[in-house]
Amino acid sequence: MIGAVIGDIVGSVFEFDNQRSVDFPLFSSSSTFTDDSVLTFATAAVLLGKRDYAAAYQDFARRYPDRGYGGNFYRWIYTDDPKPYNSFGNGSAMRVSPVGFAFESLEETLAEARRSAEVTHNHPEGIKGAQATAQVIFMSRKGATKAEIKQEITRRYGYDLSRPLDLIRQVNRFDATCPGSLPEALSVFLEGEDYEHTIRLAVSIGGDTDTIACIAGGMAQAFYGSIPAGIVRDARARISAEFVDILDRFQTQFPAASPLLT
Ligand SMILES: [Mg+2]
Repeated sequence: MIGAVIGDIVGSVFEFDNQRSVDFPLFSSSSTFTDDSVLTFATAAVLLGKRDYAAAYQDFARRYPDRGYGGNFYRWIYTDDPKPYNSFGNGSAMRVSPVGFAFESLEETLAEARRSAEVTHNHPEGIKGAQATAQVIFMSRKGATKAEIKQEITRRYGYDLSRPLDLIRQVNRFDATCPGSLPEALSVFLEGEDYEHTIRLAVSIGGDTDTIACIAGGMAQAFYGSIPAGIVRDARARISAEFVDILDRFQTQFPAASPLLT
């Protein structure tokens, strides 16, 4: 999950200032966590035994406002008796990475990804986006190759993963939906060579950079199992003490979520 949080922080300064290159400083003074990280920590808190997803998402988002939430989600945060609103925004995928690290069977992983999604994103595409992201993390942890992951994700979810990033980079526009984000994030993951390269590729295609880097970053952490220590240090310095505490407790309870620091 720290791999997803890093992607969000690195991508945060490029969301409205796209730069279609892999050559940029990973962190600057304005790099900060956004909605993607806040809700990822909320998901982790649920898995650590706190409460239900709707209550956790409302609680965390209210305590960390002004972090770039979508309009419909922002209204949902403040409703009493919150109900799902058939969203297929990419929020269901950006917050799900802890689920991918927490279970020992694919069936449990997919069921929990659905639970995390459907309190808001109960549209079939919203649930698919969460499940596909969690499944890539699960399969990566279990040693699947990228060829196996590509084949299985294409078969089960129907995403078009045939476009090379060189093409995606030319046509990509800001699109905060699951169908407009998962093929892009998956393609970034598949073409990445290591954790850092994956994050750089995610930013290089432009569009909703923090969320694409967050989704691909969680996958890359699971696949490579290691992240440069300096990158983890720079990201931990940019999250709240509460988030550091949740991260450390999550990695203790679910050791698969703890990357090797290189
Ligand atoms: Mg964001």
